[in-house]
This record gives sequence, C-alpha cells and structure tokens, in this order.
Amino acid sequence: MENTNLNSYQSVPCQKCGRLVNNVGENALKVTCSYCVLSLVGLPKESPAKTYKPTGRPAGWHFMSEYVDNDGNVFHKGKEQPKLKGTLPPTKIKPIKKKTKRRTQQQILLDRNQEKKAALKKAAKKQQDFLNHKFGD
Ligand SMILES: [Zn+2]
Repeated sequence: MENTNLNSYQSVPCQKCGRLVNNVGENALKVTCSYCVLSLVGLPKESPAKTYKPTGRPAGWHFMSEYVDNDGNVFHKGKEQPKLKGTLPPTKIKPIKKKTKRRTQQQILLDRNQEKKAALKKAAKKQQDFLNHKFGD
C-alpha cells in the first residue's frame, strides 16, 4: 500500500483495544479509539434506551382511578386488580394535544374580537358582492 499522498494521515491501532483508528495525524503515536474514549469518560456501557422498557402505558397511568392496559390488566390508581382482568376494554389514551394551555380571559376576549372582525369582513364582502352584481356591467 502506497502512502504517497496520505503521508500526514495514517491508521494507528488503539493503544487500549487495538482497533485501527483511521486518519490519525502523523504526530499521534498513541491513539485511543472513540469506543475507548467513551468508556474512559464513564458513559454507561448499556445505553439508556436499552435499559428503558416502554410499558406502552401513558404517563401518569398509575394516578388514574381506573386504567386498563392492552392486555386487559385493570389498575385502580396503579394497583392491579387481578379479579377484574379481562372484564374491561383497554383504556383509550387520548393523543396529547400540543395546545394544553388554557386560554386566559383576555385571550378569549381577543379571540372573540377576531371572530367578530372576521364576521364583519365577511358581511362587508357579501354586501360588496351584492352591489357588484346589482350595478355591475
Ligand atoms: Zn480502543
């Protein structure tokens, strides 16, 4: 393998695990591959995604007075009710709406004002159309 043009970069085995690290500057005599660097900085070996087990249950399900999961398990405030298993349809989870903020009184008034304005505009347009038709041509 000729290295004529790539003199300034080389592949060097990681000093810890021997994994070849590419594009190492020529001054680097010892390299640590990204995997070893990651373990050095103390990242958990298992990714959080691996340890997190999604239950498919909505957030706060154990606060609900009654929650039935997709398997028919019934929970009353988070406590399983084995006797009720399979007797109830799974709780349907409403999709979380992005707008959860309640409108303030002021916002309601503003909105109402907008609606009025829109209605007025519509009425004016209607009138205009009417006049155009009457006196058009
Ligand atoms: Zn390594």
